Amino acid sequence: MMSATETLLRLPFEAAAMFAPTRDLFSLGLRVRDSHEQLRLDECEFTASDYASNIWRFEHCARAPGLTVILRPRVEGGVLFLNFAVAGVPTDCALEWIEPLRLCVANPHGELLLPRHEGVLVKNPLRNYEPQEPGWHNYVFFPGYDQMQFLGYFADGAGLCYIARDRACGLKYFNIRKDDLSMELYCRVYCGRDFGQEFEAGYEFSVETCRPVWQSACARYRDWLENSGFACPKGNYPEIVKASPVVVIYPVRGRGDDRGDMGYNEYYPYLKALPVMDRLRRQLDSKLLALLMHWEGTAPWAPPYVWPPQGGEALLAEYRDALHKRGDYLGVYCSGTAWTQESCIDRSYRPAEKCATEHLESHMVVGPDCKDLEALICSNPYGQRLGYDLCMGDAWARQTIIDEVRKLANFGLDYAQFFDQNIGGAAHPCWARNHRHAPVPGPDQVENQKSLLQELRERFPKLLLGAESGAAEPYLEYLPFSDMRYACWDMRDAHPVSAYSFIYHEYVNNFMGNQNGIDFGIDFDKQPENLLWRTAYAFASGNLLSVVLGPGGSLMWGWIIPWDTSTRPDQESELTLLRNLNAFRKQFPQFMVYGRMLEPQNEVAGSKWTLPVPWRFSRELDAFIPTWWQAPNGDKALVLTNFRPAEQVAEVDGHPIVLPPLNAVIIPLN
Ligand SMILES: [Zn+2]
Repeated sequence: MMSATETLLRLPFEAAAMFAPTRDLFSLGLRVRDSHEQLRLDECEFTASDYASNIWRFEHCARAPGLTVILRPRVEGGVLFLNFAVAGVPTDCALEWIEPLRLCVANPHGELLLPRHEGVLVKNPLRNYEPQEPGWHNYVFFPGYDQMQFLGYFADGAGLCYIARDRACGLKYFNIRKDDLSMELYCRVYCGRDFGQEFEAGYEFSVETCRPVWQSACARYRDWLENSGFACPKGNYPEIVKASPVVVIYPVRGRGDDRGDMGYNEYYPYLKALPVMDRLRRQLDSKLLALLMHWEGTAPWAPPYVWPPQGGEALLAEYRDALHKRGDYLGVYCSGTAWTQESCIDRSYRPAEKCATEHLESHMVVGPDCKDLEALICSNPYGQRLGYDLCMGDAWARQTIIDEVRKLANFGLDYAQFFDQNIGGAAHPCWARNHRHAPVPGPDQVENQKSLLQELRERFPKLLLGAESGAAEPYLEYLPFSDMRYACWDMRDAHPVSAYSFIYHEYVNNFMGNQNGIDFGIDFDKQPENLLWRTAYAFASGNLLSVVLGPGGSLMWGWIIPWDTSTRPDQESELTLLRNLNAFRKQFPQFMVYGRMLEPQNEVAGSKWTLPVPWRFSRELDAFIPTWWQAPNGDKALVLTNFRPAEQVAEVDGHPIVLPPLNAVIIPLN
C-alpha cells in the first residue's frame, strides 16, 4: 500500500518533483492533564482510510483510540493546498500541536530561507545548520523571532515556497529536521485547545514553485499576504520615520558593556551629551533620535519596572527639551514583558522579595510542567538578570505593563523600544492553567499580545513603540519602528537577507538598531569595513540608519562592545557613508521610504568582498549591494550601494556603471 507522502506526491502540483517520499506526513502532540507529559504521535501509528476522495482520515491509533486526523489536500493552478483538523481528542488530553505537512526534500544540499529576523539564508543546511526542536525555552517561533509564515527552499535550479496561509497568525514554528542523508521541511502549529477539544484549521498550507532566489519566495508570500485581508495600511508611517533621523544609541552608565563598573559615564547628566549630538547633527546633516541605554532608575535591563530615569524626571526633561528645541527626538530602550528577580548588573536591585511577599509567581509564564518559571532571554548568571516572563494572559501582568508604558508616555518621550527581548514583539508560550488562555500554547497568546499592543496604541498614541527585530506580522501595525538588528545570531550557519523588507517595507520602516551581539558574528579586525557594509545593508533594506557611541562621541562597531576595545571603525568613512545614504533616502523617498522591493530585474556583476566570521568560513559577498524598488506610481529603479571607500565599476546587463565611494546610485528602469 502506498504511504500518505507517496500518495500526496502523486498529486499534480508543480513542486512535487522537489520532494521524496518519507515515513510520516504528520505528527501531533497531546499534553496529558494529570502527568503534564507530552504524548507524541506520528502518522505511522494510524491506519489511514483510502485516499480516493480529497478527505483523508487517519484513525485507529493504539495509543489514542478515537483520535482522528483529517487532511484535506487539493491542487489548484499547480499549487498544493492542505487543510487539516483533529477530532476525538481524549478528554484527559489537550491537543498542543500538529505538524500537518512534513515534507522531505529530494535534494538536501540546496539553500534554505528561514523566516527569522529579517530572513536568513542557509547554504547546504544538511551540513551547515543544526536545527533545534520546538518546545519550552525555544523562542524561535511565529509570531516573534519568526516574523513571517513561510519557508523557502532552492535546489537544482528550482525553488519552492511553503506557506501557512493563516490570516489569524496563530502560533507556529517553522524549521527543518535532518539526519545524515535527508532533510524535511515542517511547520508545527500550536493549537491551543482545551482538554478534549477538537481542532479545525481555518486556513490551508500551500506549496508552490518559485524562481531559485530568496526574493522569489518572498514575492509568493507577499502575493498571498496582499490577497489575505492583511489590514495594515501602506505608507502610514509615524512622523519620525518621515523625518528620517539618524538614531544615536548610547548608555549613560558603564563603558560600553553590561558588565563591570556601572558608574555614570560622560553622557550623564543627560545634557552632557548635547555637544556630541550637536556635532553629529552638523556632520550628518540630519535630525537625530537620541536612544538611551542603562538609563532606568531601577537597574539596566531590569523589567518591568524602569521609571523614573536615573537622576529623576526633571534631569531627563532638560535633555528632552533641549533635543526638541533642536528638532531632534528622545527615546529609550526597555526590556519588554520580562520580570526581574535579581539584576546581575546591579546586585542591589532585587524584586525577588516583592515577588515572594505578594505571591506574584501566579502571573508568570510557566513551562509544560506548570512549575518551571525561569525565563530564557537574558536570564542567567552571566546575563543581565535572573527572572521570569510575565504572561499577557494575566490581568495583573498586563496592567503592570500598561502602567509602566503610561509613565514613559506621560513624560513625553518620542519613542520607546519597549519590547526589547520580546523579539518581533513576541509573547512567550505559556502552559499555565490559571491564565486567560488555553492550557497549552496557541492562538490565545497571539490574541492577548495583540490586544495589549492595540490598547497601548489607543491609550498612548503619541508614544511610538518598537521591538527587538522588526515586529512580526500580527504586531506590525502596533510596533511601527523597531530595532532591526543584523541577524548575527545566525551568522554561524547562515547569511541574513532582506526578506522582511521585501515583504513589509510598504507597511513599516524600521531602523538599523544597536547591532547587539555583532561581536559573535563578525571578526572586526580582519575586516574593518564590516560596519560600512552593515550600514549599507540597513540602508539597502530601506531602514533608517543608526550609530552606537563610545567615548568622546566616537562611533563603535555596535553594542555590546567595551569602550576599551582596541579597534574602532574608520570614523570619517562611516560618517560620510551615513551622511550620503541618509541624504539619498530623503532624496528618493518614493523608493527608499514608500517603495516596494522587487525581484532582481537585471544581471549585475562586479567585484567581490570578504566578510570573515569567527567560525568555520569566510563569506564572499558582492562589494556593493543591489536592490530593486518600485515606487507607488509604478516607477522602477535599481539602487546600487557602494559601501567601500573606493570607487568601483559594476556591470548592469553588460553596461559599466561607476559607483562613487561611500554612496548610492540610482538607475531608473522604466
Ligand atoms: Zn499564561
